[in-house]
Amino acid sequence: MTDLRPTSTSSQGDEATDLLFAGPGEMRAICREFDWSTTSLGPVSTWSRSLCNSIRTIMAARCPAFLWVGPDLVQIFNDAYRPSLGEGDRHVQAVGAKGAVFWAEIWPIIGPQIAQVLAGGEATWNEDQLVPITRNGRVEDVYWTYGYSALFDDDGAIDGVLVLCQETTSRVLAEREQARLTEETARADRRAARILEQVGDEHLTMDADFRILSVNDSAVRNLGMPRETLIGRTHWDAFPASVGTAAETQYRRAMRNREETHFAHRYVGEGYDRHLEIDVYPTDDGGLALFWREVTARVQAEQALEEIGARYRTLLASIDTGFAILEVLYDGDKRANDYRFLEANASFSLQTGLQNVVGHTARAMVPDLERFWIDTYAAVAESGVPTRFQHGSDAMGRFFDVFALRIGDASEHRVAVLFSDISAARAAARERDRLIETLAVERAQLADVFRQTPAFIAVLEGPEHVFRLVNDAYYQLVGHRAMIGLPVFEALPEVRGQGFDVLLDGVLATGEPFIGQSVPVMLARTPGAPPEQRLVDLTYTPMTGVGGVPTGIIAHGVDVTEQALARREIERLLAESESARAEAIAANRAKAEFLAVMSHELRTPLNAIDGYAELMELGIRGPISDEQRVDLARIRKSQKHLLGLINGVLNYAQVEAGAVHYDLETVPLDEVLATCEALVTPQTRKHGLTLRRQPCDPSITVHADREKLQQIVLNLLSNAIKFTDGSGRIEMRWVRTQDSRGPVVQIKVADTGIGIASNQLARIFEPFVQVDAELTRTREGTGLGLAISRDLARGMGGELTAESTIGAGSTFTLSLRGGMGGAVGATLAADVRPSL
Ligand code: ADP
Repeated sequence: MTDLRPTSTSSQGDEATDLLFAGPGEMRAICREFDWSTTSLGPVSTWSRSLCNSIRTIMAARCPAFLWVGPDLVQIFNDAYRPSLGEGDRHVQAVGAKGAVFWAEIWPIIGPQIAQVLAGGEATWNEDQLVPITRNGRVEDVYWTYGYSALFDDDGAIDGVLVLCQETTSRVLAEREQARLTEETARADRRAARILEQVGDEHLTMDADFRILSVNDSAVRNLGMPRETLIGRTHWDAFPASVGTAAETQYRRAMRNREETHFAHRYVGEGYDRHLEIDVYPTDDGGLALFWREVTARVQAEQALEEIGARYRTLLASIDTGFAILEVLYDGDKRANDYRFLEANASFSLQTGLQNVVGHTARAMVPDLERFWIDTYAAVAESGVPTRFQHGSDAMGRFFDVFALRIGDASEHRVAVLFSDISAARAAARERDRLIETLAVERAQLADVFRQTPAFIAVLEGPEHVFRLVNDAYYQLVGHRAMIGLPVFEALPEVRGQGFDVLLDGVLATGEPFIGQSVPVMLARTPGAPPEQRLVDLTYTPMTGVGGVPTGIIAHGVDVTEQALARREIERLLAESESARAEAIAANRAKAEFLAVMSHELRTPLNAIDGYAELMELGIRGPISDEQRVDLARIRKSQKHLLGLINGVLNYAQVEAGAVHYDLETVPLDEVLATCEALVTPQTRKHGLTLRRQPCDPSITVHADREKLQQIVLNLLSNAIKFTDGSGRIEMRWVRTQDSRGPVVQIKVADTGIGIASNQLARIFEPFVQVDAELTRTREGTGLGLAISRDLARGMGGELTAESTIGAGSTFTLSLRGGMGGAVGATLAADVRPSL
């Protein structure tokens, strides 16, 4: 074999190989290089002539061809086949390889076909068959049109498979793409047709001379003109009303400039009045295609809407409620941070206090505006969910009731706001709540008062006098039994027959209240106890309903049983004391009468004593010694004292016995005071006292008994003299005043004497009271003067009072009714305060 091998450039090959694969081309070269002896075919020199011929044939063929030869189906293929194995050296590896190994991934597909051919069956033929193969380092979907046919050896036996094939991948894919595009175009056409049909666009085409070439059904239908009358006529002829309109201008410009145009046009003429939307497209043949649709209804609807809108605007402008349209504004991070007023009605200012807001932002108008407002309106603008809320703004100092809704779509960020300032209403509501609360408290207090008041109260309703309300005191009165909801005589059966039914019915019938005092009623004080008598002060007051008709009765009152009993006892005691007093008065009078008689009886002998003593002093009964003269003087002094005492007693007794007669007249004050002054002046001189009398206008008078008045003043003066030591002063003054009954004249006798202790002041007006027993001995008296004086003063409708400071002096004031004449004011000035 070695000698057969040619000295060629091939390292592997031998002469037979070089000979077989002689010729140009890459695959021949590769086959020459390949050591075929390593295959089941053995060295090329051993191959059959028919195999070699077949190989020569395919290697020369310009169409892709491939052989599987021998039991291992060893592979050989030509240059035309080589590209099917892709880039790299896969075509080198394929040469001489075993078919089942090399095509392992597709063997399940091709193996059976090969086996069929090898078994002597028919040749196979597959067109555009997908046979994915490993190529270019990956499995590729490759399409083939191929045929397998038997390869015979020299003996006519099948020795291999001839593959004639063509890769059709790019054509298949191109065809598929084409089909897809065609299908898509058809679908798009169908869709367009459908849409056109659905939108009902009217359509026509015109040539360059505006001659109508075609008209669609929709146009025919809507124009109401047969197709034949339109085709062939110029647009201007067919639609004369468009001549001279904006539409004509548009068509001519589109025709001239070969550009599409879209416009709205109202076609009026030939009985038409149609709002149209017209699309104009230039066509390939130099004409125009028109598509148009009628939008009359829409335009009318829009006009109507516009009218409604205008009407709403008028309405919103005139309402009290504030209205505004806002546009929510966003910052760079798409966060809402303000809003702008686009519109605002007249009431906006009224409701917010803000002026001329349109065009301005909320933050510009209200710098401290709370975030709440921005967030709330942004939420409405974004969600489209209208909202109604009440919220206050401290920045605006107001409280609002707000309804906000989005207008337009979300992208416009616009919100309409209807709102009212409800600050006042809110304050009023708060105030109302406060009042209700106060009322509740007062009601509770009232209920407490009602319940706890010591007076009993019951509310009776209707002709049956059913108990509606009963307080604690009432329960106490009738012994805690069930009453509410029961008629009065069912709740208090023991009261029946005591006349209360007549009273209650009467009040209800007449509407006149009943008031009774100490009304006796027989009541069981505890359940089941025998009734006992109670006395009640009772009032039945009618309650009136609608129209003033009595519908019920308020029974209220007090249980006065105890008080009534006590009163009866007091009356009994009073009656007793009254008779005792009458007895005492009678006894007193008897005593006074006795005293008067006695005094009289005593004065007679006393006068006799003085008379005879005087006779003796005068020596009429004979001469008397000096000692006798002294004794006689003592007798006469004692007689005078006794007589004074008796006179006093007699005087007092007369006054007490009511036996004094008063001769009341108008007495000039000046006269009385002057007389008294004259009478006591000798005495004051004797005691070294100063007597002063306040001068008095003769017109000033008192209503008095002249004699008794004088008696009182003299008594006061003589006391003043008696209880004032030498060099003291005595004053007579007067004051005119007024009380509820008229003018009053006060006569005052003041001294700078020894005074009277305050605890004795009241007593000195009692009979026989002398303040200081020791003093009495030196200053004679009976203790009756002041008692008589006060009785006399009172007897004249006046009063006698005393003020004193011990050691400093006393002032006695005799008040009498002023007489006629003289002005109070004029004489008041004469009130000289004591200068003591
Ligand atoms: P009598 O002067 O006869 O004792 P009165 O009734 O006139 O009786 O007076 C009662 C008493 O009131 C007197 O005893 C004397 O203590 C006191 N009294 C009356 N006037 C004065 C006076 N001007 N100053 C001090 N004491 C007086």
